[in-house]
Amino acid sequence: HQASGESAERNLAKFQEEQRFQRRMAIEFQLRKAILQGELRIVYQPVVDLNTSLMVGLECLIRWHNAELGEVSPSEFIPIAEETGVIHDIGEWVLREACLQNKLWQDAGLPAIFVAVNVSRCQFNDPRLSGMIEDILRETGLQPGYLELEITESLSMDAKLAEGALASLKRLGVRIAMDDFGTGYSSFGYLRDFPIDKMKIDQSFIKGLKHRHVNAVIVQTMITMAQHLGLAVVAEGVETEEELNILREYGCRYVQGYYFSRPVEFQQIENMLVHLS
Ligand code: C2E
Ligand code: MG
Ligand code: MG
Ligand code: MG
Repeated sequence: HQASGESAERNLAKFQEEQRFQRRMAIEFQLRKAILQGELRIVYQPVVDLNTSLMVGLECLIRWHNAELGEVSPSEFIPIAEETGVIHDIGEWVLREACLQNKLWQDAGLPAIFVAVNVSRCQFNDPRLSGMIEDILRETGLQPGYLELEITESLSMDAKLAEGALASLKRLGVRIAMDDFGTGYSSFGYLRDFPIDKMKIDQSFIKGLKHRHVNAVIVQTMITMAQHLGLAVVAEGVETEEELNILREYGCRYVQGYYFSRPVEFQQIENMLVHLS
């Protein structure tokens, strides 16, 4: 009995691994055609200034709908795009799309806000990154002050290349935000070595802010540190009024999360901008 149980378990494990492999291959294959086939789009999540209760910016989040695979989450396909190198084309597409959209809103006379784009560590290892962004800004006509780049801490970022890339991006006038702050390997090292403008507190610290003392201490400390360093602070993943009130009390100025808005299509952002103006 036990022996056959073990072999059934082994078969199941093998089957599951096969399934994972198949899905990965399918994603890899379909992803290569996603841009050309127009399968990618961006949704936008408002960033709110607690001083004024107004939307001051947007985070651009990629979405992928494929006929065969359905909707695939970026948490699943971005790592595969990074491994296969497709991330360079996808990253460029998102940047151009975000800058263009923001410029169109500004040209339509709507209130000026910033767009924040997630940039993969692979893109920071590419020496052409800042040149590419300079080109996109020139082509779209968006002023660099309305573009923010979100980077995450990661071991595989080449520190020297990243430092060079960040320095030229800063010279362009683009802002740099450190995403998912507190979850990575070298949060403090990044703050010390890179010209960061903004700290985005990871949503895992916001969850349970009320009930977990350790989260409250960490969040308070991060906000204080950001203030001492002259950095803007954004709390990510704010879902309840309770979390919002605690963050306000701690002196956090910017928030983002389902409490205000989920990531939405550009038409909905347009409506919000019309109401703002
Ligand atoms: P991220 O940059 O940290 O983005 C925040 C994620 O949290 C988004 O998930 C967003 O939808 C979600 N979120 C926002 N507010 C709340 C909230 O109140 N509660 C909860 N539970 N979640 C909230 P999403 O869109 O699935 O993206 C996941 C990750 O994929 C992003 O994390 C980012 O690392 C990556 N990603 C998304 N778009 C891009 C892109 O264009 N380029 C690159 N390189 N990465 C991207
Ligand atoms: Mg982000
Ligand atoms: Mg984040
Ligand atoms: Mg994240």
